[in-house]
Amino acid sequence: MDFALSDEQRMVLGTVRQFVQKELLPLEAEIQRAELEGRQFPDRTTIRQLQATARKAGLWGLLTPEEYGGANLGFLMTALITMETARALVPFIYGGGADNILYQCTPVLRERYLLPTIEGERQSCFALTEPDTGSDATNIKMPAVRDGTDWVLNGEKVFITNGCEADFAIVFAVTDRNKGYKGGVTAFLVDRAMGWTSRRIETMGSWGPAELHFENVRVPAENVLGEVGNGFQQAMAWIGQGRLLIPARAVGQAQRLVEMGREYARQRIAFGHPIADYQAIQWMLADSAVEI
Ligand SMILES: Cc1cc2nc3c(=O)[nH]c(=O)nc-3n(C[C@H](O)[C@H](O)[C@H](O)COP(=O)(O)OP(=O)(O)OC[C@H]3O[C@@H](n4cnc5c(N)ncnc54)[C@H](O)[C@@H]3O)c2cc1C
Repeated sequence: MDFALSDEQRMVLGTVRQFVQKELLPLEAEIQRAELEGRQFPDRTTIRQLQATARKAGLWGLLTPEEYGGANLGFLMTALITMETARALVPFIYGGGADNILYQCTPVLRERYLLPTIEGERQSCFALTEPDTGSDATNIKMPAVRDGTDWVLNGEKVFITNGCEADFAIVFAVTDRNKGYKGGVTAFLVDRAMGWTSRRIETMGSWGPAELHFENVRVPAENVLGEVGNGFQQAMAWIGQGRLLIPARAVGQAQRLVEMGREYARQRIAFGHPIADYQAIQWMLADSAVEI
């Protein structure tokens, strides 16, 4: 099997490398300063400016179908781009994308949620995890109870990435306790304006997870995403995409860190030699490279 990159893949990665060097790497120092000072950086405006710059270079809607204005590059190319982009230790995501399950929107919901998300006018978050249920997502408890033409949501979601920035959440709630995850979980598109609130959870890193609180939040029945009872499958489809792209980001970051170590070892002199000349240092760098 030939794992070599094609000419086209190399060309795209060259464009990404230029973008990373020119636009993202210069932000790293400010990100560290902001973290120490408890400020959030890059903020949404900065991210949108960066996305617009990337768009001019063709880096827009990496997984978005062409009919929605995307580049539809597929998972392999997107993973390669993610690795290359992650070499800058900057929490940045290219614009023009939307949660993969939002393509299940009805025509009405498409106008209100999918299209504005692709354009960056609206921001979503994915709300599955609960205080007592993480890996075992089959066990979520948040109830959604039908009342007339609405569903009423009560409960709490935790560790929700972008939970403080999002203006709508894709919320997974239990609509039939007897069926559980096998047909009893439903996905809802819930505007912040419908009444949920959020609070940041302090963590290391800048991805900003949050707690979301729902107290008698009324969601119109038309805001069900896809079919009632199909939520668990949708949640797994959403997570499946992350399983490819989150590790790609980790690999890119790790490669950059090993490179930084290698450069430092070359220029740092101790006992009359660059420390890269010492075998103990070489082993550590070699072990790290092999582990990646
Ligand atoms: C930065 C961050 C962002 C996140 N963003 C989101 C988001 O946007 N939306 C969302 O819904 N959730 C999000 N999460 C939550 C994430 O999905 C959960 O943290 C994850 O599912 C793990 O759940 P938990 O933390 O409750 O750990 P638990 O499920 O309680 O697991 C605790 C430990 O036990 C281990 N473990 C669990 N089950 C087994 C088993 N069967 N065998 C062996 N070991 C096991 C786990 O690996 C873990 O080490 C985020 C979390 C973080 C940290």
